[in-house]
Amino acid sequence: THFGFTEVPEGEKAGRVQGVFTSVASKYDVMNDAMSFGIHRVWKDAMMDWLAPRPGQRLLDVAGGTGDISFRFLKRAGTGHSTVLDITESMLVEGRKRAEAASMADNLDWVVGDAMKLPFADNTFDVYTISFGIRNVTRPQEALNEAYRVLKPGGRLMVLEFSQIPNDMMQKAYDLYSFNIIPKMGQVIAGDHDSYQYLVESIRRFPDQETFLGMVREAGFDNAKYRNLTMGVACLHSGWKL
Ligand code: SAM
Repeated sequence: THFGFTEVPEGEKAGRVQGVFTSVASKYDVMNDAMSFGIHRVWKDAMMDWLAPRPGQRLLDVAGGTGDISFRFLKRAGTGHSTVLDITESMLVEGRKRAEAASMADNLDWVVGDAMKLPFADNTFDVYTISFGIRNVTRPQEALNEAYRVLKPGGRLMVLEFSQIPNDMMQKAYDLYSFNIIPKMGQVIAGDHDSYQYLVESIRRFPDQETFLGMVREAGFDNAKYRNLTMGVACLHSGWKL
């Protein structure tokens, strides 16, 4: 497109993604707030509202990074357990520091692994979440298939991801902001232009709401639905393994 995407050969995507997150790990939480003006917190809370965590549930939080989703889930559930899986170890290291500081370490496991090949048995978890992660996975359909496999019957999938704005004018305005401002903010705040250039490109390439809904159904999920957040800047997809 006219935005000049940097072409990344398929086989190199995983390595590149890891490079990006290794370089941003220590500044990830601060950058998240700065780039989104704190809105990612509102979206994560909306995810919890729809998910309605219950006491004792076992969560698998894939691409869980520094643990934002797991912390929220455990607070709302009251009691429970979360396994945070991520392909980038340095993100998990940051998360574990946060868990220790919040005295929540006992309820959390931190596992290095790939969303496309989960190191867990079939029918293990009550809930599977992936927040701002599936966009980075080389083959998202494989991640969804794996989500279905490791969930127990009756288990719930919830995906939070950037999406496409249905209104063309709004999408154009948003593109102008993201392609022009975000990489520059990345340069100024984190000294890292290219990682944030990758971020905006990966957002624009990701399938729209309806296309992704089809992928959720393709993986086997029932009662699959989505809700737009902030006019479609982000979106929640929910599905059940029945
Ligand atoms: N879930 C957290 C949140 O919402 O703040 C972190 C999201 S962060 C934008 C994306 C994470 O996806 C990174 O930590 C990255 O290492 C991870 N990731 C990318 N590809 C992955 C894969 N194939 N399997 C597991 N994690 C992956």
